[in-house]
Amino acid sequence: MNKIYKVISLLGKNEKALDEVNKARLDTCRSCDYLADATCTACGCYVELRAAKKDSKCPYKKWQQ
Ligand code: SF4
Repeated sequence: MNKIYKVISLLGKNEKALDEVNKARLDTCRSCDYLADATCTACGCYVELRAAKKDSKCPYKKWQQ
């Protein structure tokens, strides 16, 4: 996970989702059946990184931008 947090820290300000958006996304992921070991098994991404990026989308539209 440290590498994921490092990548997130390197995102530009214009690439990052707002903190409240990021938190709401992660709250949804944490209650999602597709989440396993910090990974979305629907698409294989690390949800922390996906949620942190402004333009990301949930593959099942459980959260939007
Ligand atoms: S990105 Fe979507 S499908 Fe994947 S764990 Fe999060 S809410 Fe679930």
